Amino acid sequence: MRESDNLELKKTHYIGTLALSMKGQQVVVGGWVEDLRELGKLTFITLRDITGVAQIVVVGADNLKQVANLNRQSVVCISGIIQESKARDFAYEIKAEKIEILSRAVHPLPIDPIGRLESNIDNRLNARALDLRNQKTASIFKIRHHVLLSIRKTLSELGFLEVNTPKIIGSASEGGANLFSLKYFEKQAYLAQSPQLYKEQLTLGLEKIFEIASFYRAEKSHTVRHLTEFTSVDIEAAFLDYADVMEILEKLISSVFEHVEKNCIQEQKTLGIEIRKPKTPFERISYKQAIEELSKRDISLTFGDDLMDSHLRTLGEVHPGFYFLMDWPMKLKPFYIHEKEDNPDVSKSFDLQYGYLELSSGGQRLYDPAKIRSRLIEQGLNPSQFEDHLKTFDWGMPPHSGWGLGLDRLMSIITKIDNVREVVLYPRDPERLFP
Ligand code: ATP
Ligand code: MN
Repeated sequence: MRESDNLELKKTHYIGTLALSMKGQQVVVGGWVEDLRELGKLTFITLRDITGVAQIVVVGADNLKQVANLNRQSVVCISGIIQESKARDFAYEIKAEKIEILSRAVHPLPIDPIGRLESNIDNRLNARALDLRNQKTASIFKIRHHVLLSIRKTLSELGFLEVNTPKIIGSASEGGANLFSLKYFEKQAYLAQSPQLYKEQLTLGLEKIFEIASFYRAEKSHTVRHLTEFTSVDIEAAFLDYADVMEILEKLISSVFEHVEKNCIQEQKTLGIEIRKPKTPFERISYKQAIEELSKRDISLTFGDDLMDSHLRTLGEVHPGFYFLMDWPMKLKPFYIHEKEDNPDVSKSFDLQYGYLELSSGGQRLYDPAKIRSRLIEQGLNPSQFEDHLKTFDWGMPPHSGWGLGLDRLMSIITKIDNVREVVLYPRDPERLFP
């Protein structure tokens, strides 16, 4: 397929850096043929690279012959001169001097990457690499890059160290049934569902840490917000209580929106959305208040009942934006969550909600190993399976708090796209294991 492996033309400019003010200058651009119009003695090519599109004018028998039969989405390098354009959409164009066809796209392509013909999400995911040529899709992942950049910046500035904990683990860390197991040579191993135990342990050496990583849940959920592999942003911090880490989460969300609002202007236009910093402080509602609000809407729950999807949808109608749902009953929370001193049935825990959608869970942690042991037993777990973890609590474990934030769900809120599959490059769900 390749006509020349010996590249003579070397890309000198990204299209986004070109302007009419460079009139007369020779440049080499490289990219994908988005459109091609043959008008006899003239062929117009719309060429796209990651930074933008340019119009290329091809004249002269040899050059015209070269681009005849060139399929859209083929890869070319073109050297040419910048000149004024008469086209409505372009201020300048590039008059081609030399054209190298580097890779020919074979038609028919599985989807129309320009998005003129809408493809359904499954076809798009099956051809994900090509789907990224669609500027709407590319914009989502440019925004995702900026979200990650902003998270790293904000947490680093707050004194958190980024860490990496293992994803292959030897025992079921939180006791949950939703673990993927795998053969690890002659042993049994699991894929981590969260960094919970590691991040707590790390507070005794590094005080404030964060991790951004993939975690795994073997749940056959068929919703727009669950994947079997998702990206979590986790923090854990020594000496902070749950109110402190809620404030950090609020600050982080707010700075992410601010960063994306400022740095992803073109992407917002392409997606047809306006990203605006949410109002802070976020509303803080206790679990008790939530069940009172629900009872006013004829949903009767008693303290200790879990909030089901339908309950959260009702609450989400009352509170459509970001809000904290806090002080959950202890019995609904995992073994490592701290109780309130003045009421041991209530926990120092919270979820960050966006309407009905849970974005994050967090809380203050127990750090007295005796209390953890009795909580494990209460929850039907065996403390002896947690000895590696529990012994670290005798090595100077500080009081600590933290949270885990679902990055994919955050992305779906920022981009106003409901299905998390759209904001993940190669999503994994119970049905989807390829590509
Ligand atoms: P849910 O009740 O929505 O299934 P969870 O309470 O089981 O979530 P946590 O264990 O609290 O989830 O994980 C912290 C955060 O990680 C969640 O608030 C969510 O944003 C994200 N998350 C958890 N599970 C998934 C998943 N399967 N797919 C995508 N994101 C997830
Ligand atoms: Mn949760």
